[in-house]
Amino acid sequence: MICGKMYAPDEVAYICPDHGNDGILDVVYDYNAISAEFHKSDLATNRDESIWRYKPLLPVSAEAIVPPLSVGWTPMYAAPRMAAAHGLKHVWVKDDGRNPTASFKDRASAMAVVKAQELGADIITTASTGNAAAALSGICASVEQPNVIFVPESAPQAKIAQLLVFGSTVMLVKGTYDDAFELCLEVADKYGWYNRNTAYNPYMTEGKKTVSYEICEQLDWQAPDAIFVSVGDGCIIGGVHKGLKDLLALGLIDKMPRIYGVQSAGSDYMWQAWTNGEDVLTKAPIAADTVADSISAGLPRDRIKALAAVNETNGAYIRVADDAILKAVPAMARLSGVFGEPAGATAYAGLIQAVETGLVSADDRIVVINTGNGLKDVKGAMTAVDLVGTKAYGVRPNLADFDEVFTTI
Ligand SMILES: *Cc1c(COP(=O)(O)O)cnc(C)c1O
Ligand SMILES: [Zn+2]
Repeated sequence: MICGKMYAPDEVAYICPDHGNDGILDVVYDYNAISAEFHKSDLATNRDESIWRYKPLLPVSAEAIVPPLSVGWTPMYAAPRMAAAHGLKHVWVKDDGRNPTASFKDRASAMAVVKAQELGADIITTASTGNAAAALSGICASVEQPNVIFVPESAPQAKIAQLLVFGSTVMLVKGTYDDAFELCLEVADKYGWYNRNTAYNPYMTEGKKTVSYEICEQLDWQAPDAIFVSVGDGCIIGGVHKGLKDLLALGLIDKMPRIYGVQSAGSDYMWQAWTNGEDVLTKAPIAADTVADSISAGLPRDRIKALAAVNETNGAYIRVADDAILKAVPAMARLSGVFGEPAGATAYAGLIQAVETGLVSADDRIVVINTGNGLKDVKGAMTAVDLVGTKAYGVRPNLADFDEVFTTI
């Protein structure tokens, strides 16, 4: 929080007018009013298996029309072999790769589309490393909402393919994600388009916070001790924190889990700021470069909330090398059955390091969020299996040849 000013929902569009692009707003609720009308028991009988089961806790009206694609209520798998591999007792993998466009970003994009349609927006726009774009693109397609997307031309093919398949207008920016973000802001401003950009549009956090509602509901309202999540712009980690704060304020959980933000050593702005006690309002952008394209961010747009998420919960920032991220892709898949893209497996790489450095203890109940499906980045996956020495065997189509190859394995 910079200045603490409050605005009514119709008073401002996205950001604090006094603080420009750093002045990201936070949606504030009247918890007493919500408490009076909303109870755990209502959820127990609610058959809506999507983020909209939490409508009373979201910035939409009860009558709001929501897109048809089913977003959220993703599975949370107990992962006993993953736990045992690290001397832990309780680990769950929350698989957000199971969203309609295969990443966590669907939670935010679904919210963006509802808010844009409330305003009757002609065009929605966003810049993205790839997944936020794919999410906006898919959800817009489901309701015939025109949209224009800015992605760096280096985004993985699968993500660009999604945009084109869904029929978005796609701008491949000759530059980094940070360049795409700045261009998109300028264009949105000039043409008056609805702006979904992460950390700029305050409602994105509100979509993302639903993951914490689900984690706690899926654990029967026994909040976990620790949650691991990868961090690029910091909007997801801020959303995780916001969701937990809501639940605590409403008395739905009785403790705040520790939140661990995991970054690649090649894109470690938040880790640097947290480790060195730097002021994120004045800290300069860094040059970001990592195999985990979804968390490559030289200037994390939601850095204030991202820092608070860790500081206010007694968590930590963790930095892992790209090699460790790549190795975590097959490791997570083999220990839990969940195939994540590199930025998804980054959370697990962070847990491995947290065990080694003593940040978690054996009895902790730990949730690892996989933020994106492994098929988003096949090239990354192939590099990963190569790194751990897993390969396929060529065989001619006859039994004798098979026998010969098989004996060498
Ligand atoms: C966007 C994204 C992240 C990081 O989220 P931020 O809000 O940018 O911190 C992590 N993993 C995946 C797969 C993503 O798409
Ligand atoms: Zn302000």
